Amino acid sequence: MSKDAADIWSDDITQLLRVSDGFILSNVDPSSTPGYEHGKKRGKKDLALRAKQLDEYQDRLFARSRVDATQSSVLLVLQAMDTAGKGGIIRHVVGSVDPQGVKITAFKKPTEEELKHDFLWRIEKALPATGQIGVFDRSHYEDVLVVKVRELAEPDEIERRYDAINDFEERLREEGTRVLKVMLHISYEEQRARLMKRLDRPDKHWKFNPSDVDERSLWPHYMSAFQTVFDRTSTDRSPWYVVPGDNKWYARLAVQTLLLHEFAAIDPQWPVADYDIEGERARLMAT
Ligand code: AMP
Ligand code: MG
Repeated sequence: MSKDAADIWSDDITQLLRVSDGFILSNVDPSSTPGYEHGKKRGKKDLALRAKQLDEYQDRLFARSRVDATQSSVLLVLQAMDTAGKGGIIRHVVGSVDPQGVKITAFKKPTEEELKHDFLWRIEKALPATGQIGVFDRSHYEDVLVVKVRELAEPDEIERRYDAINDFEERLREEGTRVLKVMLHISYEEQRARLMKRLDRPDKHWKFNPSDVDERSLWPHYMSAFQTVFDRTSTDRSPWYVVPGDNKWYARLAVQTLLLHEFAAIDPQWPVADYDIEGERARLMAT
């Protein structure tokens, strides 16, 4: 990462936000802004300043993956309660990348066809291509979140899925995909305010779904299901990050930084020409 990209943070947020041993979700304050002390106005500016860097990284990743596919894609997995801001991350963070370099998939209630297969079947089909950034707006984790809370599968099957997910993500790693798992964490009160806003504004009515209020009534069950997800699937090699989400500007800046950090770890280099540059220059001049 370039010097100034690191400098805006007072602390290493890959450590601050990481779910490690002993992590307790209810100890996270959704209105906090860990590691960032400059406030909203600068936060928005910092986000804009780094947009180009993410785009260039993806460009380099794509170019590099033509000659070396050992680390060839980045997959951002976004999980959150309704209104937490997944869409804003996709628009304002991932939106700065060349659309051809991005593959976004939103996972809804499974279709009849999808339900006939293993829960990872539809996930496999949505993986990013070599050189791309994949974004999962919801993911295979719904199969141990809403499915658990709503009892949509047998307890044994749900239990089996945690290990299946760990194996799956390990395989992705071996195949060259870096998986960045992010939960956007908003407070119960903030969600009410955001849902209320959707009811207040005719241009937002389409975004409101009466079932959102039903899911909201199960808030403690969802938080407990998230805690289990962290306990079972946040590993050294594939950690979760919990990003406080009540401040949208903070969540966006944090996710952008986490993405930049993944790319910095890959540090994809432009491929070196495998032809004679001077010779080609001369040939071109002669035309
Ligand atoms: P939204 O993202 O707000 O359009 O809503 C998508 C809905 O699909 C959410 O209520 C999710 O909980 C639900 N959903 C996504 N994946 C699954 C799944 N595997 N099983 C059941 N419901 C799901
Ligand atoms: Mg919804």
